[in-house]
Amino acid sequence: MIGIIYDNAYLEHKPPRSHIENPSRIMTIIKSISGTVTMEKPINDVNEWLLKVHDEDYVRRIDEACDMGYVFIDADTYVSPGTCKAARLAVGAVLKGVDKVLSGEWGTAYAVVRPPGHHVGRSGRALMAPTQGFCIFNNVVVGAVYALEHGFNKVVILDVDVHHGNGTQEIFYEDPRVLYVSLHQDPLTIYPGTGFIDDVGEGEGEGFNVNVPLPPFTADDAYMNALDRVVWPIIEEFRPQLILVSLGFDAHMLDSIANLRLSLNTYAYVFRRLRNMIGKVRGVVFVLEGGYNSDTLSRGSRLLIDIMSNRDVEIDEGVTQTEPRIMARVNSVIKDVINTQRNYWHLA
Ligand SMILES: [Zn+2]
Repeated sequence: MIGIIYDNAYLEHKPPRSHIENPSRIMTIIKSISGTVTMEKPINDVNEWLLKVHDEDYVRRIDEACDMGYVFIDADTYVSPGTCKAARLAVGAVLKGVDKVLSGEWGTAYAVVRPPGHHVGRSGRALMAPTQGFCIFNNVVVGAVYALEHGFNKVVILDVDVHHGNGTQEIFYEDPRVLYVSLHQDPLTIYPGTGFIDDVGEGEGEGFNVNVPLPPFTADDAYMNALDRVVWPIIEEFRPQLILVSLGFDAHMLDSIANLRLSLNTYAYVFRRLRNMIGKVRGVVFVLEGGYNSDTLSRGSRLLIDIMSNRDVEIDEGVTQTEPRIMARVNSVIKDVINTQRNYWHLA
């Protein structure tokens, strides 16, 4: 069983002027899936959990910004009067999703939330990134902490957003209970400029951080190869009890914010693989991160619900092929990732 978690409060996080991260992103998703799936409201009171992840000073700074009206807290990231409620309920949606999976009521939850979260560290900007990249609170991280304190001790965060989740990496870098795996566009070519192969975690967390930085123009065939050779084997060896997915649709070829060339076939592949893990894992909680093409957001979300509900789907996009020159670079990245991660995992 799959359900979504959503609240109209997410529409009240509004940019002061035209901005790519705006309420229409999520309106288009809800319009395309409402009526097809059970919908629940997020958990309301999240302050206790928020403060297990973010510094009190940071949360206070955000609350003060909300009181000021419409302000930019950095060059990319805005706060509006409705932001503080929306951002708390975005966290609350992930907590509700974890609850639903923990209770066995749902196998899959989809938190259709904004503002997004994976770029925020404990106290705002993470790993020296120039901005918070539209993010206020790290929704998926608070969800993972919530799961850890509710009986889970092995949680995967799989991040398929086109950008590296620098906030998520920073927060769990020394924590072996959370395996963070991110596929993203090469940080030398895109915000936030982090997510290199050598970042493997530190201290007890060494070996529990996996970055797969892919060159611009990587298409379906190469991306799926990276999943098959690195991502699925490591996740399976880790044997998680719960999988959280930082679900960005901005790696799709129609998204103008980045340069990967994925079609919905890759997303469908990810959804199917995760669906087939349910049983071995208690469940999967998808958390919306980026994605700025309305058609991709709505079709991708429908695809997610159909696949996780075991319905047949037809994808009206062909599988994209990576040019030979780019493919050679992807293969060399995969080789480097395997050589690095072989210190911790059995990789062929
Ligand atoms: Zn993104």
